Amino acid sequence: MSETKNIKQTRPLPAPNSDFYQTFDVLNESQKEVVKRVRTFMETQVAPIINRYWSAAEFPFELIAGIRDLHIAGTSIQGYGCPGGGSLLANYIAMEIARVDCSISTFFGVHSGLAMGSIYICGSEEQRQRWLPDMAAFNKIGCFALTEPLVGSGAAGGLLTTARREGDTWILHGQKKWIGNATFADLCVVWARDVSDNQVKAFVVEKGDARLHRGEDRKQNGLARCPERADHDRQLPCS
Ligand SMILES: Cc1cc2nc3c(=O)[nH]c(=O)nc-3n(C[C@H](O)[C@H](O)[C@H](O)COP(=O)(O)OP(=O)(O)OC[C@H]3O[C@@H](n4cnc5c(N)ncnc54)[C@H](O)[C@@H]3O)c2cc1C
Repeated sequence: MSETKNIKQTRPLPAPNSDFYQTFDVLNESQKEVVKRVRTFMETQVAPIINRYWSAAEFPFELIAGIRDLHIAGTSIQGYGCPGGGSLLANYIAMEIARVDCSISTFFGVHSGLAMGSIYICGSEEQRQRWLPDMAAFNKIGCFALTEPLVGSGAAGGLLTTARREGDTWILHGQKKWIGNATFADLCVVWARDVSDNQVKAFVVEKGDARLHRGEDRKQNGLARCPERADHDRQLPCS
């Protein structure tokens, strides 16, 4: 009895926290609310069903409405129907999504970050107005085609996909690889080398404008549900 009395009572351990530097505290209260909403959605709506889609190598289209309702597409964009909130928030959202499922993370990152971000940063005012509000509302899904079968990290120096202007038409020719959302996207930001000045330029190719093919063995790429191949050999009107 006396031995039991002498055992020192230890304080309960704090809950596990992988945010070692407490960077989460940099966010303001409304940003934290958004991140918590995303975490709840990922844990309650995505985690319970996602393995089924991995096994079937299919994309969970049923989740798109829920992701839309989070109102998180274009947090680093001001205006154009986007929620705003800043790049820091966008990165926290990306982390929360990837924490549960890396394919949803690719889907969202490609749509909101790569495709919408490219149109926002590089597009004309007319192009922003034309596509960003619909993309923010997930009425249109975007993809981003930079990587090629023979060109990865060295894209800026050596893209093999070419763009040639003939009068009022651009002719894109080449092949892309690893393109998330490619088979179902409504529009694709395609990067190609303009043969006239050797500069890499971006072209928005809308559904029906490009030949899109699914990769033959997506499971081998570790992203079971993200189609990743797009072949382009199309004529586009200049805009
Ligand atoms: C999940 C996922 C989703 C993706 N989605 C898209 C998408 O939507 N659209 C798109 O366009 N692409 C996409 N990609 C492709 C991605 O951007 C490329 O994988 C990336 O550009 C690297 O290219 P690579 O795989 O050909 O590797 P490589 O460029 O061949 O690199 C292979 C290795 O060599 C190293 N290396 C390369 N160059 C150098 C150098 N000069 N000096 C030293 N080391 C070097 C790299 O660090 C790497 O370790 C996606 C990739 C992944 C994994």
